[in-house]
Amino acid sequence: MIKVTDIHKTFGQTEVLKGISESIATGEVVSIIGPSGSGKSTFLRCLNLLETPTQGEIFIEGESLSAPGACVDALRQKVGMVFQNFNLFPHLTVADNITLAPVKLGKLSASDAKDKAIELLAMVGLDHKADVYPSSLSGGQKQRVAIARALAMQPKVMLFDEPTSALDPEMVGDVLDVMKALAEQGMTMVIVTHEMGFAKEVSDRVLFIDQGIIMESGTPEQIFDAPTHPRTQSFLSKVL
Ligand code: ADP
Ligand code: MG
Repeated sequence: MIKVTDIHKTFGQTEVLKGISESIATGEVVSIIGPSGSGKSTFLRCLNLLETPTQGEIFIEGESLSAPGACVDALRQKVGMVFQNFNLFPHLTVADNITLAPVKLGKLSASDAKDKAIELLAMVGLDHKADVYPSSLSGGQKQRVAIARALAMQPKVMLFDEPTSALDPEMVGDVLDVMKALAEQGMTMVIVTHEMGFAKEVSDRVLFIDQGIIMESGTPEQIFDAPTHPRTQSFLSKVL
């Protein structure tokens, strides 16, 4: 589904990603853990071209994002993203937040998009909130709407950047439950998270990113129970 080869990203003088190569299979759930500032968000943002790598190549379903003539918009639509701070449109109702992109990009008619929005809202437990504005929702509800909004574009991959970090503790479970259900439905997912219990339970694979490279990767059992790299061990000893 996704292949990246030797991705580098430099901001000014600072090389933030120093050569990341990785493949993510269809249906795979990959969690990314690592210290703050290590390049996790930058890596995710490269995967849907919110950032352009300074070097290296990204393939989505075998198609290069950087090939001359690449249909970047079509490729980007295959990749849904959920951010730490929800990024809902405050002036639109919940339903309109969800229908905006599929209608604007001609993926669905207005009425099909509305039906789809209600269906997705039911899936995240918020079908009764279709006509309210985001300001009336809790953080956990906003994040579930953001997930529904991303799914409305029928992406092939979902990227999550610390989706529960901005939430009050009692809201975290509902959002993780929605993500777990998505994983069980076979969605390909890449999740930057500090929820180690969740990562261990849901992931097929865990990547430990530090200082702009993948320092260690493996099954959740390998990474959490028997990490081999000293930096992984040190990081986990602080967060577990
Ligand atoms: P993480 O998500 O692991 O905390 P980030 O990918 O957000 O790390 O950031 C990695 C480094 O890149 C940080 O030092 C950050 O300040 C820097 N950085 C990220 N985005 C930009 C940007 N747009 N311009 C300059 N520096 C950036
Ligand atoms: Mg980040």
